[in-house]
Amino acid sequence: MAWESLDIPITVSMQHEVEHIRIREARHLVSLGYRETKSMSPVIVCPGPLRLLPTQPSELLQLEVPTILLDRDPEIPPPPAPFCHMTTLTSGADGKAIPTEKLDPDSLTSASFFPLGSFIKLQVKLVLHLFSGQRREHDFQSEFERFLQASTHKTNVCVLSIDIVLHPQLGDLTNPQAIALWQDLIALGIVIFVLAGPPCETWSAARYLALSGDGPSGPRPLRSQSRLWGLPILKRAEAQSIAIGNALLRATIRMFFAAITAPTTAVIMEHPKRPSWVPMAPSSWLVPELQYIAKQANCFSVDIDQCMFGAPSMKPTTLLCLQVQHLQLLRDIPHRCDKSHVHATVLRGLDSNGLFRTAPAKTYPKGLCSILAKLACSQFDSICDRSPPPPPDLDQFSSSDLARFYVPTDPYLNSAQSYGADFSSLSGQHAFMPPLPNGKAAKAESELVSARQLACTAIEGLSQLPNGMSVVGKHGSSRVHF
Ligand SMILES: [Zn+2]
Repeated sequence: MAWESLDIPITVSMQHEVEHIRIREARHLVSLGYRETKSMSPVIVCPGPLRLLPTQPSELLQLEVPTILLDRDPEIPPPPAPFCHMTTLTSGADGKAIPTEKLDPDSLTSASFFPLGSFIKLQVKLVLHLFSGQRREHDFQSEFERFLQASTHKTNVCVLSIDIVLHPQLGDLTNPQAIALWQDLIALGIVIFVLAGPPCETWSAARYLALSGDGPSGPRPLRSQSRLWGLPILKRAEAQSIAIGNALLRATIRMFFAAITAPTTAVIMEHPKRPSWVPMAPSSWLVPELQYIAKQANCFSVDIDQCMFGAPSMKPTTLLCLQVQHLQLLRDIPHRCDKSHVHATVLRGLDSNGLFRTAPAKTYPKGLCSILAKLACSQFDSICDRSPPPPPDLDQFSSSDLARFYVPTDPYLNSAQSYGADFSSLSGQHAFMPPLPNGKAAKAESELVSARQLACTAIEGLSQLPNGMSVVGKHGSSRVHF
C-alpha cells in the first residue's frame, strides 16, 4: 500500500473512506467519458521505488474557498460611461434642461439592418418583456394594459414579448444582432422599460441542498462562487445549459449597460435572492457586472418574497431596479413574508414524478405582475407628462418587424405556438421574411479571416528561417518545407 510505503499511518476506516472517494471519482470520470484513472492535472513522474519520508506531525489543512470572482467577464463589453452618447443637457433660459445634442440613429450598430430613424418618427414607445413565456391572464402585459386604460396616451406605448418563436433572429437573445437592436432602441429612448427574468435553473440554490431520503439524486451544482460562469468540467448537456444560461444573463446585463446611457429608461431584473441559508451557493448577484450596475446612483435592489404576491411558496427574489422612477410604489406595499400564511412544499429535491421541484414556480404570481406593470405604467406616464407625445403612426408600426413581438392574449394563438425556448434552434417558420444579416455568421466569418491572417504570418515567419523553403502547393496555398 502506498500509505505504508510513505510511512503515513492511517486507520482502517480512513482507508475505506479513501477507497470510497476513489470509487466515486472513478465513476464521475467514466460518466464524463474519460478512463477511470484520468488525471485532471499534470503528473510529475518520479523514477524508482517510493522514497520513505520521515513522519510529519499531522496538520489540519485549512482550505480557503474563494468567495467572489474578481475578474470581469471578457464576453461582455465594458459598461459605457453614464450618459456618454446621450443628449447633452444644458440649462435653458427658463431654468429647464434643454437638449443640445442628439444621438444619431444612423451611427448605431443596428442601423445597418433596421430602420431606426423612421421607427423614431412612429412615436411608439416600447416596454420590453424579456423571457416572457406564454401569454396568460393577469400576466405582466395584461396588467400593464389594464393600468394603461387611464392614460391619455395609451396608444403611444406597446408591450413586446421578446421570444424566439416571434422572430428567429431578433427574438433570439443569444444573437449579437438582436442584442444590438434592443440596446440601440434603449439608447434612443424608444424603449422606456425592460423587465427581464433570465432563466435561473443553472443558478438554483436547490442544487446545493441535499436531497431528502434515498431517492434519485437531483441536478448537481454547475457553478460555484469562484466559477460563477460555470465549472470547468461538465457533461455535454450541462455545458450546453450553462452556455445558454450565461448568454441570456449577459444579454440582460447588456440591456442594463444600454440603459445607463438613457436616463429615462428603467430596467428591472428578477432573479432568486442570494441564498443566505446556503452560504457557499453561487448567485448571479455575485457577478461583477451586476454588482457594478447595483452601485449606480439610481439603482436599487429590492428583496421580495413572492408569497406576498400570491405565490404558493415563499420564493425569495431580488429585483435589481435601475432608473425606476416610482420605486416607492413597490417599497410601500408589504413585500417581505409576514408569516401570516402557510407555504406550499419547500422547493427542494424531486417530486413524486421525479421532476425537479423548482420547475412549476417559474411564472410570476398575479400580484407581482401587477406591481411590476404599475411601475412600468408610471414610468410611461412620467415621460408623457414631461413631453406629451403626438399621436402615433400605428399603421406603419403594425407593418414593422417589431410589431411581431406584440402578442395579444388569444387562446387559439397560444395553442398554436410553443413558448419557452429562449434561444434559436431555427425552425424556418419565418422563411418568408426578408433575410437579415446574421450576426453569428458574421462573427464566425471574422474569426476565420483573422485565423487565416495568423496562419499566413506564421508561414511567412517560418519561411524566413535559414533552413525553411517556401513552396506553393498544387491548390495554390503556401507551404514551408524544411
Ligand atoms: Zn410567506
